[in-house]
Amino acid sequence: MPSLSFALETHPGRKRPKNEDAVGYALTPWGGVFVVADGMGGHRTGEVAAGLAVEAILKSLKEAEPSPKALLEAFERANALIYAEAQRPENRGMGTTATCLLLDLPYALIAHVGDSRAYLLRGEEFTLLTEDHSWVAERVRQGLLSPEEARTHRWRNVITNALGSFPQARVDLLGLKLFPEDTFLLCSDGLSGVLEDRTLKEALKNFPPEEAARRLVELANEWGGPDNVSAVVVRLPKELPQGQRPYALPLEAAQGSPVRLKLGEEPEELPTQVLEPPKRPRLSWRDALLILLWIVVVAYILLGYFRP
Ligand code: CA
Repeated sequence: MPSLSFALETHPGRKRPKNEDAVGYALTPWGGVFVVADGMGGHRTGEVAAGLAVEAILKSLKEAEPSPKALLEAFERANALIYAEAQRPENRGMGTTATCLLLDLPYALIAHVGDSRAYLLRGEEFTLLTEDHSWVAERVRQGLLSPEEARTHRWRNVITNALGSFPQARVDLLGLKLFPEDTFLLCSDGLSGVLEDRTLKEALKNFPPEEAARRLVELANEWGGPDNVSAVVVRLPKELPQGQRPYALPLEAAQGSPVRLKLGEEPEELPTQVLEPPKRPRLSWRDALLILLWIVVVAYILLGYFRP
């Protein structure tokens, strides 16, 4: 199988004394697993929570055959581990975001809790795949705040869902079929909260993963580096293996919104609908009219020709 190219960067930023973000990966026979976690809590607890999440998720997934179920179980284990740790008085308030890309080429599964993000660059199209589980993002979805207001709101860091905060977490699960050279960016809010989407896109488009990840972290720091900052960039090879998966991809294709599952409550059968890859551009109205006109003209000429 042609190899992936990828890079992982994490940095404390300019304002925080320590780095409570964690990143990690494992290559597997099916592609690989990539994780970003952004921990929270006092003292060292955020750091511990993020580290535990990355470690537990990778441990579960590096040998398991990839599937939506395996991915949910990995999150379930990480949640249980961190929740147990958070019960100690000194760890009060401990929790972490986690965004995980599980490659099962030519497919990808993504599981997500919190306000770290996964983006996909496919050709010219740059898409945010995940929804933030944050107070401001919920207000934006309800139309109560504009994205610009959310960016600077004093509660912009408040997340509404985290691994380890509750006995059960809500996990968003997405699946998609991949194209050659698709490029993923996983990042913490220290990156996406500071840089605009078009800056993220430009870096992914113009540089190989290693340089893109390094540049993005540098840029976030140039813009003040107010938070810990992490970037994981993964580019798929020019050729992908072909094949069908034994499972259906979790996504409500109609709305394209992620399937939301509460850990421990996953149904026997996951919601099943395969997300079709974006369609090739369809015939524009102008082209359709021109073709129609052409048919009319030809028909008119032919009619004239055959008429006695
Ligand atoms: Ca953060």
